Amino acid sequence: MPTTPDIKADLRIAVVGGGAAGFFAALNTAEKNAKARITIFEASHKPLQKVFISGGGRCNLTHACFDPLRLTEFYPRGQRELKSLFSRFQPKDTMRWFENHGLRLKTEGDNRVFPASNNSQDVIDLFLDIAEKYRINIRTRCRVASIRPEGGKFVIQTGEQPPQQFDVCILSTGYSPPGWKLAESLGHRVIQPVPSLFPFTVKSPVINGLQGISLPHAAGRLEIATEGKTRKFEAEGAILITHTGLSGPLIYRLSAWGAQALAQAAYQGTLQLDLLPSIGEQELRNQLEQLLLKAEAKKKLVNTGFERLPVRLWLSLLENSGANLEERCETIGKKTLNRLIENLKRLRLPISGKSPSKEEFVSCGGVSLKEIDFRTMESKKVPNLHFGGEIIDIDGLTGGFNFQACWSEGWAISESLGALR
Ligand SMILES: Cc1cc2nc3c(=O)[nH]c(=O)nc-3n(C[C@H](O)[C@H](O)[C@H](O)COP(=O)(O)OP(=O)(O)OC[C@H]3O[C@@H](n4cnc5c(N)ncnc54)[C@H](O)[C@@H]3O)c2cc1C
Repeated sequence: MPTTPDIKADLRIAVVGGGAAGFFAALNTAEKNAKARITIFEASHKPLQKVFISGGGRCNLTHACFDPLRLTEFYPRGQRELKSLFSRFQPKDTMRWFENHGLRLKTEGDNRVFPASNNSQDVIDLFLDIAEKYRINIRTRCRVASIRPEGGKFVIQTGEQPPQQFDVCILSTGYSPPGWKLAESLGHRVIQPVPSLFPFTVKSPVINGLQGISLPHAAGRLEIATEGKTRKFEAEGAILITHTGLSGPLIYRLSAWGAQALAQAAYQGTLQLDLLPSIGEQELRNQLEQLLLKAEAKKKLVNTGFERLPVRLWLSLLENSGANLEERCETIGKKTLNRLIENLKRLRLPISGKSPSKEEFVSCGGVSLKEIDFRTMESKKVPNLHFGGEIIDIDGLTGGFNFQACWSEGWAISESLGALR
C-alpha cells in the first residue's frame, strides 16, 4: 500500500486533463486545503469541452436516484467500486453542491437533472469562477507528454516547456488513447477500451424507410456469438428507427451492457425485439382477431391501423409477415396472423455494425479497477497518483450517470488531498 508523505509546505498538485473529473477534484481540493497549489493541464484550447456539448448542450449533470445501491445498477462496469463511493457522495450531494454554489437545477420527469437554465455553459462558468477564486492555474493548449515519478515527486513534461515538479498528480484525461498510455507508463494495466453507448446498424426490410418512427416502450434481447458461445443481454426502453438502423434508450442500454462482446464479434449480432411488452401473447391475438376479423373485416389491410403501433410500422409488419395489403382484412390467413404475432413479440433483426452517435458516447475499459483504492482514488502502485473520470474502467448508461461517477471520484480525491497538511 502506498503511504502518503507528510507534506509541510505548499502542496503542488498537477491535474492532467481539464474535464469534468479533473475540475471537480481541483475545485473541491482548493476549497478544502489552503496549501494546495493546483495546475490544470489541458491539451485543447478550452477546458470542459465535453461538458459544453453534453446533454445536447443542456448538460445532464446527474440522475435523481438517491439509493446508492440502486444507482450502481446503471453502471455496466464499476458497480462494486461505486457502491462505496456513492455511499459517501451521491446525486443528492451533487445537487446540493451545485445549488450551494449558486447553480439552480431542475429534475425532469425521467429523473435526469439539468441546470434550470438548460445551458451547459452555466456549469462551465461556475467551475471557471471557482477556479479563479482559488487561483487555480489553468494551462490550455498544454498536452502532457510524460509523467515521471522521481524521488517521491512527479516530473511533468509538456511539449517544449521545461519539466515541472509536483507532489501529487491527478490523471483525468478522459477518452484518450495517449492518456491511457500515460497510465501504462506509470505501471498501470489498462483494460482495452472499446466504445459504449451507440446505435446499431440494422439492414432489414421491416424497418427500411421508416426512419423517424419511435416506440415509447419495447423490450430487447441482444444475442452475440463469441468464442463458441452465445452471450445474451436484455433491456427495456424506447426505440427509434434511424436511417442506418436503430437507436434510442433501449439500444444504448444494450450497447453498453454488450460493449465488450460486441467489439469481440466485430459488431455482428442478433436483436430480438418485443414491440409490445406490456401485452401478453394471448391478449394480443384476441385484439388482432377482433380488429382484423370483426371490427375492420371488410376494409383493405392498407387502410387499417393498430392503435398500439405507428401506422407505417404496422403496415410494414403486416407486409413482412406475408399479408397482401390490398386484400380485405378478413382474408388474412392463420399462418400470416401467427407470423404477425411472432414479429410483434419476437422480431429478429440482424445487427451488422455500430453507427456513429451524436449523443452521449463513452468508453468501456480503461485503468484497471483493481489497481485503485476507491476510498481516495489513489493508485495502489504509485503513491500520490490519483485517477478520476473516464480514464478508469467505469462507465454508466445515459441519463447523467457518467458525470455522477466523475463528481463522486473527484470529490473522493479532494477529501484525501484536502486532509493533507
Ligand atoms: C456528445 C456527448 C454528450 C454527453 N452527454 C453527457 C450527459 O449529458 N451526461 C453525462 O453524465 N455524461 C455525458 N457524456 C459523457 C461525459 O461527457 C463523460 O463521461 C465525461 O466528460 C468524462 O469526464 P472526464 O473528465 O473523465 O473526461 P473529459 O471530459 O473528456 O476530459 C478529459 C480532458 O483531458 C484532456 N486531455 C487528454 N489528454 C491530455 C493530455 N495528455 N494532457 C492534457 N490534457 C489532456 C482532454 O482534452 C479533455 O479536455 C457525454 C459524452 C458525449 C461524447
